[in-house]
Amino acid sequence: MHVSGFVKRDNIMSEEKFYFQSETAGLLKMMINSVYSNRDIFLRELISNASDALDKRRIECLKDSELAENEKPEIIIDSDKEKKILSVSDNGIGMSKDDLIQFLGTLAKSGTREFLQSVESEKAKQELIGQFGVGFYSVFMAAEKVEVISRKLGSNETYKFASNGDGSYTISEESQRKECGTTVILYLKESDPESKNYADEWTIRGIIEKYSDFIAWPILYKDKIINSQKAIWQRPESEITEDEYKEFYKHLTHDWQEPLTHIKINAEGSTNFKGLLFVPSVAPYDLFMNPKSGGISLYINRVFIMNDCKDLIPAYLRFIRGVIDSEDLPLNISREILQEEPIIRVIRRSTQRKIFNEFKKLLDSDREKFIKLWTIFGKIISEKYF
Ligand code: ADP
Repeated sequence: MHVSGFVKRDNIMSEEKFYFQSETAGLLKMMINSVYSNRDIFLRELISNASDALDKRRIECLKDSELAENEKPEIIIDSDKEKKILSVSDNGIGMSKDDLIQFLGTLAKSGTREFLQSVESEKAKQELIGQFGVGFYSVFMAAEKVEVISRKLGSNETYKFASNGDGSYTISEESQRKECGTTVILYLKESDPESKNYADEWTIRGIIEKYSDFIAWPILYKDKIINSQKAIWQRPESEITEDEYKEFYKHLTHDWQEPLTHIKINAEGSTNFKGLLFVPSVAPYDLFMNPKSGGISLYINRVFIMNDCKDLIPAYLRFIRGVIDSEDLPLNISREILQEEPIIRVIRRSTQRKIFNEFKKLLDSDREKFIKLWTIFGKIISEKYF
């Protein structure tokens, strides 16, 4: 198999060694050294990935009745202070050998390096890196070695990805995991006294409380569920803090920047739905390259249905990210029939109206922010009139 950008060198018994391209290794170094001023977020990234994997497994099982349903979906955190080990496990969709190479072996999505090279300012470069799916690599801020043991849904093969972030990684066959899913094991840095704290109970609890409380799946630590699992868009606005909005946005979008502003929707009447939408503070890099991309996730009664639901928002508002949740839609709705669903059209119209009202309000209440919004996204919004 040819994996673009990687050169397979050695084949020692069942362990295969791969090398990152030198540019990728450089990118990794640059990221570890500069972007992550707040180290705690690596745990947020791992939990976010585990939560996405559980969502994906649920959706796959709905599509294919042959697949084993997840009887007890969960994210399990474990730590050993003596051994300086921290692990995050999920029984989600899991990864095959090819997935491990493609998803974890590829530091950034195709085209990223070329794109980043074209950006001149170092600061802008760093701001952009967070948008390219480098989340997993944040583990190297705290770990000197990382192992990812994974079994893909529907397969009985288990593989291990191991790397110490120095530019190479190995893939080997592993003894069976009982169930599909992924375990990420971090061997915390010996050389750095602060890294060891990540095996400490109160540090772990504190980080989860701060960054991942709203995750819909149970997060277990020492056999206890430690997140409230409350859907943030269902909670009264008065109870939600700015930090909670920001952390939810980062989980949802994998963007590392804070959002420019958020819009909460609570529509009641003939069609009921709730929404929590965000305007990013930087334009997603593919906004013009791929003008069809959109970022609204559809939930039905708090259950995740699909990402990137383009029918919920007009193309000229495609920079908006967020969640729309309605109880009035059938749970078996598919992408294909979405367009014909009258409720979707009502939601789309009402969401569009709400967004424009909020933009108008912003113009009055915070002119500076509005100007920023218009500077970044005005060109796209103007497509409405062409
Ligand atoms: P991002 O999550 O922003 O795409 P990451 O570097 O964090 O970037 O992860 C890269 C990819 O690896 C994910 O998109 C996903 O496909 C895969 N992945 C990471 N963690 C897991 C996991 N726990 N289970 C299944 N797939 C995972």
